[in-house]
Amino acid sequence: MSGGDILASGISARERPLVEGLKRWVAIPSVSTDPERARDVEASAAFLRDYALGCGMSRAEIWPTAGHPAVFAERIEDPSLPTVLVYGHHDVQPVDPENEWEAAPFEPLERDGMLLGRGTADDKGHILMHMEAIRGILDTRGRLPINVKLIAEGEEEDGSEHFEELVRDHRQQLAADVAVISDTGMLAEDVPGLTVALRGLAYWEVRVETSSTDLHSGVYGGAVLNPIAVLSQLLAGLHDARGRVTVPGFYQGVRDLTSGERAELAQVPFDGGTFLASVGATADGEEGYSTMERRTIRPTLEICGIWGGYQGEGAKTVIPSRAGAKLSSRLVPDQEADQVTAAVGAHLRAAAPAGARVEFELIHDGRWVLTPSRHPAVDAAARVVSEVWQAPCVFIREGGSIPPVVTIADELGVPCVLFGVGLPDDRIHAPNERVVLHQLFKGMQVVGRLWDAYAKLGRQGLSEPLG
Ligand SMILES: [Zn+2]
Repeated sequence: MSGGDILASGISARERPLVEGLKRWVAIPSVSTDPERARDVEASAAFLRDYALGCGMSRAEIWPTAGHPAVFAERIEDPSLPTVLVYGHHDVQPVDPENEWEAAPFEPLERDGMLLGRGTADDKGHILMHMEAIRGILDTRGRLPINVKLIAEGEEEDGSEHFEELVRDHRQQLAADVAVISDTGMLAEDVPGLTVALRGLAYWEVRVETSSTDLHSGVYGGAVLNPIAVLSQLLAGLHDARGRVTVPGFYQGVRDLTSGERAELAQVPFDGGTFLASVGATADGEEGYSTMERRTIRPTLEICGIWGGYQGEGAKTVIPSRAGAKLSSRLVPDQEADQVTAAVGAHLRAAAPAGARVEFELIHDGRWVLTPSRHPAVDAAARVVSEVWQAPCVFIREGGSIPPVVTIADELGVPCVLFGVGLPDDRIHAPNERVVLHQLFKGMQVVGRLWDAYAKLGRQGLSEPLG
């Protein structure tokens, strides 16, 4: 049967192996957060290792970590050709609440051009999309136009705790000219897109202490500093009336978008009103920016939690000695987390009244990622995506972060191209996760053409700095 033959289901013979492979893989419940599934995560790694070899990768191995194992595979055609590192993850989210699934989460169900099951979209489908694209190229041409490496981590849904160490320990083996990360999505089936930016994060705890012990509000009330009042004033003062952060130095390094970049962002089909209304939220933020801009290209300083004093039922007439809050900041190019942490800490200490002791602690931080649309690696990907979808490719800036992408960008120093075919309705992390199969098939086509485009660019062309 030739590759063009369409089977009864509307899926061609070339596409069918992806579906069948995905069904078998999804049946392995590789839930990384559940210690009882550790064996399954191992089995999932072994499955991928064997599958990669079956698709024509010349080497595939399991890389153990202090947590769950990762899988590495490669096919080196010629060291002088560009090398692409593909990233994905083979672990999945838990399935609860299980009774809300229409089919058993680990017994994948093919229906209406979709495959239902945990991990179909996030992220096993994406990995097999890459593997099957390689099989397709090798079937027709016998060799790849570039070198391909695959790293599939086994702990992404559990915080990627050992990924940085893994990459650092295997820097040589993972070396590449460009990384293609396939763990994201598009805005709609007819709106193809690439993700070009992710914000960074800094998360802190602030504590205010105003006395060495809790105080009777009758005996001391009205005559002493109150830590909750002090903290409230500090927090309320973090933004001015125009929504700008008041911390001196907070905006240091923040890149203003060019008018072209703002226009590019405005092209993304996104309705701020609907976006907010769907969760019953009210617009707020920096004056002069759209909702889309506020949540993607501008840095934030948010209060995520607050505590102090008596919280139980009834009354307790006490002025507490301490109060505290959790703060987080989403960071944008070229802010530096260390600098922002120092600035926010110094500001809170300076703004507190004499006698209030302020402790400020960094909980964790992570850098932003940006691969501009004009970079040759993204530009080539956008052209291929537009060709395959027959629609203009939009450039998506995400408000959140994906820690392994930062690790790859930082440790390997490569441009990261975020190409994923997931859709907003895929219900990843939720009951009834599914993948739209023709999204995966189009993704296979993109991958095949993209490797040709990267071969044409050559190592030189891909090495342009991210600037
Ligand atoms: Zn994922």
